[in-house]
Parts: sequence; structure tokens; C-alpha cells
Amino acid sequence: PQGVEQHEFSAEVGRLLDLVVHALYSEREIFLRELVANAADASDKRRFEALTDATKALPADAAIRIHPDKEARLLTISDDGAGMSRDELAKNLGTIARSGTRAFGEKLSDAKPEDRPSLIGQFGVGFYAAFMVADRVEVTSRQPGTDVAWKWSSDGKGAYTIEPATREKPGTDIVLHIKSDADDFLDAWRLRSIVRKWADHISWPITIREGDEDKSANEGTALWRKPKSEITPEQYTEFYRHIAHQFDEPYATLHWSAEGTTEFTSLLFIPGARPFDFMEQSRESKVHLHVRRMFITDEAELLPAWLRFVQGVVDTEDLPLNVSREMLQSTPVLARIRKAVTKRVVNEIRTRSKDTENAAGFAAFWENFGPIVKEGIWEDSDYRQELAGFARFRSTHGDDPVTLDDYLGRMKPGQEAIYYLTGDNPEALAASAQLEGYKARGVEVLLLSDPVDGFWPERLSSYQDKLLKNVSQSHGDLEKFEAPAPTGEAADLMALIPALKEALGDDVKDVRGTERLVGSAVVITSEGGPDLMMQRMMRRSGQ
Ligand code: ADP
Ligand code: MG
Repeated sequence: PQGVEQHEFSAEVGRLLDLVVHALYSEREIFLRELVANAADASDKRRFEALTDATKALPADAAIRIHPDKEARLLTISDDGAGMSRDELAKNLGTIARSGTRAFGEKLSDAKPEDRPSLIGQFGVGFYAAFMVADRVEVTSRQPGTDVAWKWSSDGKGAYTIEPATREKPGTDIVLHIKSDADDFLDAWRLRSIVRKWADHISWPITIREGDEDKSANEGTALWRKPKSEITPEQYTEFYRHIAHQFDEPYATLHWSAEGTTEFTSLLFIPGARPFDFMEQSRESKVHLHVRRMFITDEAELLPAWLRFVQGVVDTEDLPLNVSREMLQSTPVLARIRKAVTKRVVNEIRTRSKDTENAAGFAAFWENFGPIVKEGIWEDSDYRQELAGFARFRSTHGDDPVTLDDYLGRMKPGQEAIYYLTGDNPEALAASAQLEGYKARGVEVLLLSDPVDGFWPERLSSYQDKLLKNVSQSHGDLEKFEAPAPTGEAADLMALIPALKEALGDDVKDVRGTERLVGSAVVITSEGGPDLMMQRMMRRSGQ
């Protein structure tokens, strides 16, 4: 027919469709969670756009409508959201924006069956879950402020079509042609129970058509506005999973209201696991800002980048509902909220770092997010010393992580510095020849192998009045400590020095005898110049 364009899916999408449809077969009901979440996201997006463009204002009865039609075997999910243009249909539903398909495939085949449904939401491939229950999916969409609509259609087997269409109002309809073995998804009761299980906290009204009537299917209460005593641990966890797209148990749940100059309520979570693509995600905090329960944006950067793993919402009465982007950047209200929320989260981490009852919990937290928190030692002068205080490190002392305070308590008589060594990998570090002299004298050295470790120690400079010194730049210090019994041939070795100098010429600045080595013959050091790992990083980035 006229105006119908035929497109192939990108190869990645084809592979992914196959994976999703087969690996998740036993958990098919989550398709509805994904489509309702998309409808809610699109509605949020439109409301935010309408703040600066009145032509996009939502209708008063905006909702997410689920309409099963047993006779025609169709299930339709409709929203009044931001819609998609022709190009967006092709881009969003025909390619994969995120690069994680391969990782997704690997994770999916490794995961236990019961963990699989969680993966799909995390990877941002939710829409394709529709093909678990449908042998054809049609998406008709119209953007607010336009009269044109477009229809995307596919059987999920390699190709899709796009053609002009009509839609009475702006928004999107997802029409599923239900597979012959998926009858139960045409049953209003079944649909209602799925919504209650997965989507109860979505703040948009969700309705299900029963007979001629659209009946409400979700409670839609803002969980954070309820008194703590009325919230069960399961409700907290469910909300966390919804907002974080994570499926673990949160390590910490922080729920409180602040009163005074700025009033707000906050429900924040520290995840119990690290999202698989965390290191690739952007550095901005995604904590949601609500004004009087209404979602405004997840781009208000309510926490500093070094706490970007924290998830949740902040809801305030002190901003107008039609807050603009410019205002978000400049209002002192948000500055005060940021300050208070940051302080509260740091307090929580500090308390937990000292909680000897659950030391394993903190160790796991540090394993997951320590590398991020350490960015704060580098970039946040207010919290630098404090964060250093609860950081955990590997050291030559043993296998257990140590704190700087542990280290101070074990310093040798006359020791004036905290020694550390940086490198790319923990095994190589522990075996480094740079450590020999320190080990032989019983002087503890911190072993730092996260990328950010190449940067923060110099910025921190000292802790409790003790300088931090990189052992690759501090070899003079060893003379202060009692040396192990001499091995005898030192004098002969010293005779080698002139010959080595001659052979190496300008490639080295100097050749010297050293106290630092016990088992190895030679060690390369950098003195005065940037630390070795920095040099390597700079070389890698072409400097
Ligand atoms: P994700 O939601 O994680 O981005 P999905 O596969 O669920 O991944 O959806 C892909 C994209 O398709 C969304 O990011 C969005 O841009 C678009 N989309 C899906 N459903 C809708 C909808 N109902 N209205 C507008 N856009 C939608
Ligand atoms: Mg989605």
C-alpha cells in the first residue's frame, strides 16, 4: 500500500528479540510491566515539556489505559504521553541505543531463570518483551503539537514497516495481537493482578477496560509521603526496584522529612548490587525531583557525582509546579536541598562504616561503590577528609581491607608518612619490587588499584597530619627504619653502577644503589615527576 516503508531490524535487534522471546518465556507477564513503564515515562516526559510549552499540556484525564479485546484477540496499551515521530519510531523501536546487547546475551544465559526478568528492564530493551505474548505489534503514535500520526508494525521476525496513520489525540497506542498460547493476557482479572504486582506505585492512573467501563487498577500513592510505620519492607524494596531498575535488595533505605527553611521529604536507597553497566553510565545523579508529589525531572543533580549510585526521590513543597529548567539550575531551594541530602547520605555511610555488627555489608558496599566514593576525595573539598576516613584499602598488612585509621595505629616508631603504591591490578601490585624494602622492614604500604587511585592521594595530601607518600617517589625514607641483616654482596653490586650508567645513557636520569630491594635485582622509580601510574594514564590518553 501507498506510503508504507519496509525496514530491516539492525542485526543486534534481531539477536536480541530471539533472546528475549526464548530466555524469558516462563516470565512472560513482565511484558506488561515494561509497556506500562514506557507509557509512564512518556507521560512524565510530556508533562515536563509542557512546563515550557503550553501547547503540549496534558488532558485533565491523562491516564494509561489497558484494553483487552477477547474477540479480536487484541490487547491495547494507550497513553497520553509525548509520543514518537516517524524518525523516533524507527530509532527507538528498530535499533538499540545502548551498546549492551552482547553483555545482555551473556548475562542472560548465565542467569538463573528467576533472575532473568530483572535483566530485561536493566538493559533498556523492555519494548521487545511485547513479542513474548504477541505475534504482531503495532504502535500508533502522535506527538503533541502535531496533527500527523505514524504507525509502526512488526511480527518481530527481522523487519518492520512504518506508514502514515491517524490518531484522534496526541499519545501512543501499543496494539498486541495476542499469540494463541497467551490467552490469559486477554483476561481483565489476570491483567489487574499483574499491574498490582509490578506497577502499583506508578503515579499515573492506570485503568483496565472491563465490559464498557475503564476501572482503576493501581493505587498510585506516593509511597514516600506515607508514614514510615505504614510501609512494609516489601513495599520499600518494590519501590526501589521500580525506581532504580534494579532487582537486588537495597543495602540502605533512607526515608525522612526535613523541616525548617526548606521542607522536603526524601526516600533514598543505596543499592545492594552494582548495575552491570554502571561504569558506562553518565556521571550525573539521577535522583528524582518531585514537587508536591508530581514528578518533575531526574536531571536536577540532587546529589554530587560521587554519590550517583544512590537512587530515589526528593519531594518538596518549596518550588512551584511549573518550575523551569533555568530555575532548576539557579534556585537556592535546590542548593539547600542538595546540601542537606548529601549530608544525610554521608552520615548514613559513616554510621555503617563503623557498624561492626555488619562489617561484611559495608565491605560489599565498598566493593561495589568505593571507587565512586573515592572520586569525592578528589573533587569535594568539604567531604575529602571525611570520605578518606571511611574508605577501605588493600594493604601489605594482610588480606582484609584496612582503613587509614587502622594504618595509623600500626605505624612504626619514627614513621611520619602513610605509604602507598598505585598500579593497574591488585596481584601485580602485591608482588611489586617497589615494596620489598618496606616489607622487609615491616612498614605497611597501601595497595591502590582503582583508576581513580592515580589521582586522589595527591589531592588529599595528608590524613591526620601524616603525609601520603607514593613509594615510587619516596625511597629516601627507608633509611629511617631499621634495615634487615645485610646480605653481603652489596659492595660488589655498587661497582656495577658506572657500567649500567654508561649502557643506559640518556634513557635514565640516574642509577643508584638502594636499600629497598631484597629479592629483586632492579627497580625503576620516578622521583619528583608524576607518579608512574599517572604517567601511564597520560601516555594512554596521548599526552
Ligand atoms: P527504555 O524504556 O529502557 O528506553 P524500551 O525498549 O522499553 O527501553 O523503549 C525504547 C524507547 O522507545 C524508549 O526509550 C522510548 O523512547 C520509546 N518508547 C517506548 N514506548 C513509548 C511510548 N509509549 N511513548 C513514547 N515513546 C515510547
Ligand atoms: Mg522501557
